[in-house]
Amino acid sequence: MIVLVINAGSSSLKYQLLDTQDGRVMAKGLCERIGIAGSRLKHEPEGKEKYVVETPMPTHQTAVQLVLDALVSPEHGVIKSMKEIDAVGHRILNCADYYTQSVLIDDDVKETIRKCFSFAPLHNPANLMGIEACQEIMPDIPMVAAFDTSFHQTMPPQAYMYGLPYRYYEEKHIRRYGAHGTSHHYVSQRAAEFLGKDQEGLRMITLHLGNGSSISAVKDGKCQDTSMGLTPLEGPLMGTRCGSIDPAIVVNIMEQEKLNPQEMDHLMNKESGVLGISGVSSDFRDLEEAAQADNTRAQLALDMFSYQCKKILGSYVFAMGGVDVLVFTAGIGENDCNTRAAICAGLEDLGIKLDPAKNDGLRGKEAVISADDSKVTVVVIPTNEELMIARDTEAIVKSL
Ligand code: AMP
Repeated sequence: MIVLVINAGSSSLKYQLLDTQDGRVMAKGLCERIGIAGSRLKHEPEGKEKYVVETPMPTHQTAVQLVLDALVSPEHGVIKSMKEIDAVGHRILNCADYYTQSVLIDDDVKETIRKCFSFAPLHNPANLMGIEACQEIMPDIPMVAAFDTSFHQTMPPQAYMYGLPYRYYEEKHIRRYGAHGTSHHYVSQRAAEFLGKDQEGLRMITLHLGNGSSISAVKDGKCQDTSMGLTPLEGPLMGTRCGSIDPAIVVNIMEQEKLNPQEMDHLMNKESGVLGISGVSSDFRDLEEAAQADNTRAQLALDMFSYQCKKILGSYVFAMGGVDVLVFTAGIGENDCNTRAAICAGLEDLGIKLDPAKNDGLRGKEAVISADDSKVTVVVIPTNEELMIARDTEAIVKSL
């Protein structure tokens, strides 16, 4: 089946056209600066030259039309006509506890996405715009919503509840939902497959470490706990997000600096994390370069990141009563051997022992990086959220 996977942001739209039979990416690309001056489309068709065009994109609908034009273009295209697209899969950030798996999009689903705007004010409205733009242009093609929160719906209440008055859960749906669910789902499944193990009886900790980072405890293939919370702000400090902090700090800073909620939100989401600590960058490559040049704050940011990840990892080992497999994924997890080594350092007594010869320099490919005598198997599995969404889309559409 040929599936178009769409990940719509407020001013961007990422896409991949996949053949689910072999997971082949036929084309992928990105529309940037939608609704802003200087919009452009970067289109990468399989086996053809990359194509970049600057052209006005006032709305998501224009962006979707440009993507479809590129996909069918004789010069840059990979299909002859739009009719070859069997289905569209949309990535949706948060649908609270309404869906435990991907679903066929109908009016009720769109209404639920709208109901959840307050949980993902930047992402859900943009995701919905992406759906509506595609429906306008491709009204007869079935569309599926894949939620970043659905994989985490198997968490037990003791993991997802916050210690606030119960009515906030009952009336306002305040609880842990997690994020990156599609990625945690994909890498946990793929790691078991790669290692030739059955997910049943397997205790895994999946570390999705990128610009946003989250860690999940996955037992028997099901999520037991995850570090992101009501929103993607909780967990270790991230590129620009502060991660978990004493909640009283929020009130303290707002009072001292007379900040309104939006300003405080911006401070925690955009000015904090390793960028805020180092004052250098949110990118780990820049931080490592700066740390090597004796920038102590860049080193501190790196140390804080691996220390906080290690603490969460430790808490999940106890939550599951042990761990069999650790999985590293996403930009940092897949590429940064120093951070992987720092997170696993000193855990030999707990059965986690990396093999430097396997870990050092390993980037972006599936591999075991633990030593042969490590009790816990440590692997790197490049994430593939698009393939997971395409497979879900295929399964739902085939069952219609
Ligand atoms: P993601 O959000 O998964 O795309 O991850 C992006 C982040 O991965 C970047 O901001 C970098 O911090 C990190 N990253 C990517 N490549 C490398 C690398 N070779 N070494 C260290 N960090 C990397």
